[in-house]
Amino acid sequence: MRALVKAEGLTKYFPVGGLLRPRGYVKAVDHVDLEIYEGETLGLVGETGSGKTTLGRLILRLIEPTSGRIYFEGEDITKASGAKLREFRKKAQMIFQDPYMSLNPRMTVYQTLLEVIKVHKLPIDDPEEYIGKMLELVGLERSHLHRYPHEFSGGQRQRIAILRALLLRPKFLVLDEPTSALDVSVQAQILNMLKDLQKQMGLTYLFISHDIGAVRYMSDRITVMYLGKVVEVGPAEEIVKEPLHPYTQALISALPIPDPKVARSRKKILLTGEPPSPINPPPGCRFHPRCPYVIKGKCEREEPPLVEVKRGHYVACHLY
Ligand code: SF4
Repeated sequence: MRALVKAEGLTKYFPVGGLLRPRGYVKAVDHVDLEIYEGETLGLVGETGSGKTTLGRLILRLIEPTSGRIYFEGEDITKASGAKLREFRKKAQMIFQDPYMSLNPRMTVYQTLLEVIKVHKLPIDDPEEYIGKMLELVGLERSHLHRYPHEFSGGQRQRIAILRALLLRPKFLVLDEPTSALDVSVQAQILNMLKDLQKQMGLTYLFISHDIGAVRYMSDRITVMYLGKVVEVGPAEEIVKEPLHPYTQALISALPIPDPKVARSRKKILLTGEPPSPINPPPGCRFHPRCPYVIKGKCEREEPPLVEVKRGHYVACHLY
């Protein structure tokens, strides 16, 4: 399979206590390698502070990496600027958690979308007709065209935000917790719409969420992050049914299981304590202070590499 997006050794450290004389660095993303194949959804899970959102923003060049490289369609875009960066920005878009924040409250839907068409000089003869058609594509009515953001529900606003990204006919979307600000009843509708749009438009997604149930539903493969590091990557069903890394096992064991027999037989791993600070992450395996299987004398000292243990299934843990 062809990788549409590739990250190599991607790293982002944020200085703490002033740029000139920092007291330390938040190691938000630390030497991450990642491939996102054309047409797939790669799920990205982890607790708050694991580096998921920073990684999404790095890949889209919304923030600059401290080191590492980013490739899109085989081209190195780490330092792209000018026309090359503008071209990349058309092809790769981000959908944020809170759609209200990403829409101008003083502009109607039509004005917001028309602005995108003008800024990017899209060759569209009849913008009103085009925008009307696109509204229907995301399940809204043409009569909504001249309304303001406050006249819509949260779900409808997220549909408009998605439509704004789609106007540019992108190939790749980073979906950053796109449904977590919405009512549970609306979440499934938006996820289903995203799946339909993916099929219709041949899109590739990076789906970021702390909700492993939603990630399982959306994704072909899942990447698990812990304190800025990738700890496991593999096919979605395999990650959910046979998680290998103790941290992934803990995340999965928190998922509700409808069948009581299966629920009784599943071993529960409870995570103790909060994740350590990313300013001074623990040495060796970063998960060792919370790991029930810690190997004394090894896990606190040696950082486990990410190794392939089954076809397409990688884990960073000394148990494997
Ligand atoms: Fe646990 Fe050691 Fe594996 Fe880290 S490397 S997850 S501490 S067993």
